[in-house]
Amino acid sequence: ETTVNRIAAGEVIERPASAVKELVENSLDAGARRVDIVLRDGGRSLISVDDDGAGMDRDDLQLAIERHATSKLMDDDLLAIAQFGFRGEALPSIGAVSRLAIESRAAGLDTGWSITVDGGRVGEAKPAPRAAGTRVEARDLFYATPARLKFLKTDRAEFGATLDTIKRLAMAHPEVGFTLKDGERTAFTASAEQGELPDRRAARLGRVMGRDFIDNALAIEAEREGVRLTGLAAVPTYNRGNSMQQYMFVNGRPVRDKLFVGAVRGAYHDFLSGGRHPVVALFLEIEPHAVDVNVHPAKAEVRFRQPGVVRGLIVGALRSALAEAGH
Ligand code: ADP
Ligand code: MG
Repeated sequence: ETTVNRIAAGEVIERPASAVKELVENSLDAGARRVDIVLRDGGRSLISVDDDGAGMDRDDLQLAIERHATSKLMDDDLLAIAQFGFRGEALPSIGAVSRLAIESRAAGLDTGWSITVDGGRVGEAKPAPRAAGTRVEARDLFYATPARLKFLKTDRAEFGATLDTIKRLAMAHPEVGFTLKDGERTAFTASAEQGELPDRRAARLGRVMGRDFIDNALAIEAEREGVRLTGLAAVPTYNRGNSMQQYMFVNGRPVRDKLFVGAVRGAYHDFLSGGRHPVVALFLEIEPHAVDVNVHPAKAEVRFRQPGVVRGLIVGALRSALAEAGH
């Protein structure tokens, strides 16, 4: 059983960033307005995610670490986009490959509870005083699976992957405050944004991507066959050669998608030189059933039923924004 769990866990948890993504998504699902993340040694020795969400009572806590236990309903919307996680797999998977400790207090109850899972062995639930919400700590990731450990990159690279994951989630959830620490050092912080969604989103984009990007970006707003695209795209002179700063979201969730990358590249084709990459933050809203569900859930990939429509929308919107700005 434990071996099976460890093998299955490798499917979900490949590196610290994938554990962080699953834990932060749980916090967001629990309605957190604040999520504080701490990593030590790139996440190898410690990953800690603390939230002020709905929390769990003793029974919830014991259920949460069992395989296939999920408290979440599979509504159409979640189904369509696959929720980007294996249902009920994240906590048991992390527990199978680390020393996991969870403490939680359900909103409205006056006692908190804690539980540990060490390499798949579940301990007893114990009372633990804390504020409403949940803290999940995973120590010594992959300590029992040396083969996995070997595939990890430097602490710096692993931390960088987590920082990227947090930035994407922070852009998708401007109403939530985030902090990310690399040991004692605060690497990222964004307080909860106020106001209507467009204002919140604009404020958060500025926070994550920098004023400099905002000041050098064109507003994107377009629609085609019921698919809507909004966001910001950098003017050609701003585009960067050092890194791929392309942030893309489908129905509010971060995605990594070849179609997006290709369409953006195509739109900027005439302006790209010296290996520069266009810098964009694009939000696509599409009817859930027009997005394919059978894509590897841990990889944040999507497949569109009508890729031509989506590609045309992106290329068209970016080209006309560039043309209007005189490029
Ligand atoms: P899933 O998210 O697919 O349900 P997980 O293994 O990630 O599976 O989590 C199992 C369950 O544990 C969740 O359904 C939820 O009930 C509970 N849970 C996990 N993390 C939190 C959290 N931060 N706050 C409240 N409940 C949580
Ligand atoms: Mg989950």
